[in-house]
Amino acid sequence: LNYVPQTDPEVADALAQELARQRDTIELIASENIVTPAVMETMGTVLTNKYAEGYPGKRYYGGCEKVDIVENLAIERAKKLFGAAFANVQTHSGSQANYAAYSALVKPGDTVLGMSLDNGGHLTHGSKVNFSGKLFNVVSYGLDEDERIDYDRMQALAHEHQPKLIVAGASAYPRVIDFERIAQIAREVGAYVLVDMAHIAGLVATGHHPNPVPYADVVTSTTHKTLRGPRGGLILTNNEELAKKINSAVFPGCQGGPLMHVIAAKAVAFGEALQPSFRDYIEAVVANCQAMGKGMTDGGLRLVSGGTDNHLCLVDLTPADVTGKDAERLLEEVGLTVNKNTIPNEQRSPFVTSGIRVGTAAGTTRGFDANEFYRIGACIAATVFNVNDPVRLDAVKAEVSALIAAHPLYPELSY
Ligand code: PLP
Repeated sequence: LNYVPQTDPEVADALAQELARQRDTIELIASENIVTPAVMETMGTVLTNKYAEGYPGKRYYGGCEKVDIVENLAIERAKKLFGAAFANVQTHSGSQANYAAYSALVKPGDTVLGMSLDNGGHLTHGSKVNFSGKLFNVVSYGLDEDERIDYDRMQALAHEHQPKLIVAGASAYPRVIDFERIAQIAREVGAYVLVDMAHIAGLVATGHHPNPVPYADVVTSTTHKTLRGPRGGLILTNNEELAKKINSAVFPGCQGGPLMHVIAAKAVAFGEALQPSFRDYIEAVVANCQAMGKGMTDGGLRLVSGGTDNHLCLVDLTPADVTGKDAERLLEEVGLTVNKNTIPNEQRSPFVTSGIRVGTAAGTTRGFDANEFYRIGACIAATVFNVNDPVRLDAVKAEVSALIAAHPLYPELSY
């Protein structure tokens, strides 16, 4: 990438700063990952020049034969990865995938049962500030006293409100989701099931989380979290009728030309995820998350639900008497990037919060092992319990720097 500094030094400078930031911190934001050089290279290719409205073999523009090859590869690999009969790989984001899925399944004004945002659901699962909360009559389910999804309550709400659609999946839930049970509840009331597996898609691909495809009418995902692809969305179904509705909900329903360079990068990422090495990677993501969780609990913190089954921990900072907002800032100062997060029964605003969410997808790609993740967990605890002790914080920062130095990021890259 030698063109940008010559053409646009201001943008090149920002790119260089961001590369340095990613190199000099440990990325613990649970929704992020570090793509392979092959995935990144594919995004910066000639495919960005091409308009290809429509679908392979049925385009509204000429010259689409080559991009058809790429989109078909992405579709076939996605189907193989998740055992689905149909895949749409065109949505630009996970939110847009959900918008298209809703369009295919329900009409404005219909009742939708989704997981509440403050219990770990996503904005697109019915939040008032999102299209989902504005267009639909949303009823929300949440967690029980063990901080697990309250399936009994979900069932009671479903019988009471007779939703047309039940949405499952989460942005901040560290436990296995019982898709079979949710599908059973939906069957009882004649509702569709939409599973948004954005966070856990990588784990689903390798069998480290049950696959929702056999149970859900439609499955949506992002491609950039544990699945480790470019930023984007994915929609799967086994139902041919719904597949047609989904395709028209995506194009022309809510977008024009697909991002062919990103679809090509999705194909590359799906190809990587089909390799045995990706199974080893996800195995390590899960083991590392257990280790990081132990490092934090040994250091005095509490994990929501008492632990984790997947790639993330939701951490209750109450024992350290520090807010999520302050913890996020302090952790950034020692070299650990996290996000503040509400916890069940949150007493503070979403801008302040009493928790943080941390994940191991990016750090595992970078090469940190379970011992190192235990130390990272211990560093998190040491930081939030010593907010007023600069000497202790300096020691944590030095330990984080040593961990970072052992695992260089994109050593071949410069701007
Ligand atoms: N669904 C879930 C469960 C998510 O966690 C997210 C993103 O964080 C999304 C959907 C939205 O994805 P995007 O940011 O690509 O719109």
